[in-house]
Amino acid sequence: MTARKAGLRVAMIDKAAFPRNKLCGGGVTGRAHGYATAVFGALPDDLFHVSRSMRFADGARALADVADAPSFYMTMRTAFDAALRARAIAAGAEDFCGHRMASCAPEAGRISLADGVNLSAPVVIGADGVHSAVARALFGQGKRRAATGFALEVEVPGPPGAHTELDMTATPGGYGWDFPKAHGRTLGIGGIAAQDADLRPRFEAWLRARGVDPEAVRIKGHHLPSGALRPRPGRGAVLLAGDAAGLVDPITGEGIGWAILSGRLAAEAAARALAAGDPGSAFALYHQAMQPIRAELLRARLLTHLVYHPRLQPRLLRALSRSDHLQRRYLSLLAGEMDYADLGPRRLLGVAWRVLRGGA
Ligand SMILES: Cc1cc2nc3c(=O)[nH]c(=O)nc-3n(C[C@H](O)[C@H](O)[C@H](O)COP(=O)(O)OP(=O)(O)OC[C@H]3O[C@@H](n4cnc5c(N)ncnc54)[C@H](O)[C@@H]3O)c2cc1C
Repeated sequence: MTARKAGLRVAMIDKAAFPRNKLCGGGVTGRAHGYATAVFGALPDDLFHVSRSMRFADGARALADVADAPSFYMTMRTAFDAALRARAIAAGAEDFCGHRMASCAPEAGRISLADGVNLSAPVVIGADGVHSAVARALFGQGKRRAATGFALEVEVPGPPGAHTELDMTATPGGYGWDFPKAHGRTLGIGGIAAQDADLRPRFEAWLRARGVDPEAVRIKGHHLPSGALRPRPGRGAVLLAGDAAGLVDPITGEGIGWAILSGRLAAEAAARALAAGDPGSAFALYHQAMQPIRAELLRARLLTHLVYHPRLQPRLLRALSRSDHLQRRYLSLLAGEMDYADLGPRRLLGVAWRVLRGGA
C-alpha cells in the first residue's frame, strides 16, 4: 500500500488465495490498530470485537479483573488480512495471490512462481512469515533462529467471552489466552518451544479446565519468532519485514503491529532508494528506520528474564494481583499505549520494587 502511494509498481505475491486462514490470536493492540489505519485508511468497525475487560489469571484462579482496560481490537485474521489485501489491490498492486513462490534469487531481483511465471524487481521485500524463503535465500538455513516460539490454538464458535483473559502460568516462558471474538473465542497457549516439550497435552488439559473438549475442536500449531530478532533484516536491495525479520515481542507475542509498521518502513526505504537511482541503498535506509523497533524488542527480550523467571514469576503474579498500578502499567504495555522505553530505569526500579514486595 505504502509503495503504491509512493507511485511504485508493485507485485504482491502470496501462496494463498484470499480470504485465507492464518493461525493467530487476532489480538490487535491500539498501537497496531493505529499503524493499520495510517497505512490502509479507516477500517470497518465490523472487522473487530472491541474488548475492554481484562482478566489476569494463574491457571483457573483469577488474579485480577480490570473492567476499564485499554481497548483491544479482536479480529479474525481471515477477514482482517483479506480486507488489507483488498485495499492494496484497489490501490493498484498487481495481484499474484494464490501463486506460491517456488524459488528466488532476491539479490538478483528474481522471483519464480510455482506456475512458471518469472518476475523481476529492483527491490524485493520479503514479508513471507516465520519460515521466510527470502530470508533463507539471503542467509541460509541458520539455526532455525526464527522459530524459537511455538503456539497451539483453537477457535470455539459461540457467543464472545465476557473478557479477554491472559493465563500467566499456562506454560513455562509463555502464557495462555482466551480472546473474545464477535462469533466465538480464540484460545491458545504459546511460549519458547525448547522450554515445553509437552505443549500439546498441557494445552488439552488447559482447554478441559476451561470447559472446552479438545476432541471437539481442531488444534493447530505454528511457530512465531518471539525473541528471534534478526540482527540484519536484509541486504542491499532485499528487505525483510514482519515475522521474516523476527519482529515478535517475546513478552506479549504481539507481531501484527510490527509487521504492518516494518512493511511500511520497508516500502518507504525502497521508494527513497529508487528515487535516488540506487536500489542497493534500500537496506541501509531501512535498517536505520528500524532502529526504534529493534530497540523496543531488545528491551522486551531483556525483560523476559524478569517476567518469565521461574523464581521471580510467583512474586510478579502476587504483585499483579494486589497492585492496581502494576495492572495498569502491564495493560498499557500490552495495549501499546506505553513503550518499554517509557519504563526507563526509575520506573523499572519501581516495578522491580513492587514485584519484590509482592505488591504490598
Ligand atoms: C498461534 C499464534 C497466535 C498469535 N497471536 C497474535 C496476536 O493475538 N496478536 C499479534 O499481534 N500477533 C499474534 N501472533 C503473531 C502474528 O501472527 C505474526 O507476527 C504476524 O502474522 C506476522 O505477519 P507477517 O505478515 O510477517 O507474516 P504472516 O502473517 O505469516 O504472513 C506471511 C505470508 O507469506 C505467505 N508465504 C509464505 N511463504 C510463501 C511462499 N513461498 N510463496 C508465497 N507466499 C508465501 C503466507 O501465505 C502468508 O500469507 C500470533 C502468532 C501465532 C503463531
